[in-house]
Amino acid sequence: MSDSPERPQPLGGNQMPRFAGPATMMRLPARESAAGLDACFLGVPLDIGTSNRPGARYGPREIRNESVLLRPYNMATRSAPFDSLNVADIGDVPINTFNLADSVRIIEEAYTDLLIHDCVPLTLGGDHTIALPILRAIYQKHGPVGVVHVDAHTDTSDAMFGEPVTHGTPFRRAVEEGLLAPERVVQIGLRGTGYDPNDFEWAREQGFRLVPADECWHRSLSPLMDEVREQLGSGPVYISFDIDGLDPAYAGGTGTPEIGGLTSIQALEIIRGCQGLDVVGADLVEVAPVYDASGNTALLAANLLFEMLCILPGVKKR
Ligand code: MN
Ligand code: MN
Repeated sequence: MSDSPERPQPLGGNQMPRFAGPATMMRLPARESAAGLDACFLGVPLDIGTSNRPGARYGPREIRNESVLLRPYNMATRSAPFDSLNVADIGDVPINTFNLADSVRIIEEAYTDLLIHDCVPLTLGGDHTIALPILRAIYQKHGPVGVVHVDAHTDTSDAMFGEPVTHGTPFRRAVEEGLLAPERVVQIGLRGTGYDPNDFEWAREQGFRLVPADECWHRSLSPLMDEVREQLGSGPVYISFDIDGLDPAYAGGTGTPEIGGLTSIQALEIIRGCQGLDVVGADLVEVAPVYDASGNTALLAANLLFEMLCILPGVKKR
């Protein structure tokens, strides 16, 4: 952790009205690069990998917009991330919105550059395609990672409309490329209609633990997370959080909603349950704000990203 007497702090609501000023994530300082940072927020405004409703390109901007309400201290867990870490918003990755393959290349390069600095990236998506280039960059630094993957979908399709790189295929490609430690992967919140009763089998055969949403209904997920921490152990872990893992009642602003999903309370239990894991990166993807006039989906996403920051290694509690 960098030792800086003046750590960047979110701009307080008594210094500037919350609805005013530039909307960086949590009203943190904007930085050009990850140099000197322990963790950073950055956006990947890509949605040309989506199969149904588009609009996740607006996710990063709207998550930042709703994040203006966030205060720096976690009242529930006592985490004080800005006491411990240097954190800033380093802006967006300049994807090529006319070319998915080129965008994937651009994202991998951006994360490879970012990871030269010992900085943990917390990504505002963007559709789930972005997990693949991010995992490619993370692999170069950390080797195969475990993954806590929250999603209605396994995202392990072999292809969509014949295309190998889409928002429904990143974890299939990641396994094939050796980017993951498959026995250290858990997928939570799976549900919805399928093409075949065995749609989830490929993921199971790789050694993933699959937790369907109906196994989560009506219960706390804290006991599950005790098991997940045991499963994932001490190696590096990536958190990939598709907002459609939650029920559309909580997160309707997304492209492929499925009914019967997790609650926002269960989302908090999952992320807080990652405390103690060696989390080396995280994303929050598939927020498509245009389908949620209330702003709730982006507000929820902003809060979940803050919770991810709060469980990073080295964050002290007050
Ligand atoms: Mn997904
Ligand atoms: Mn999904």
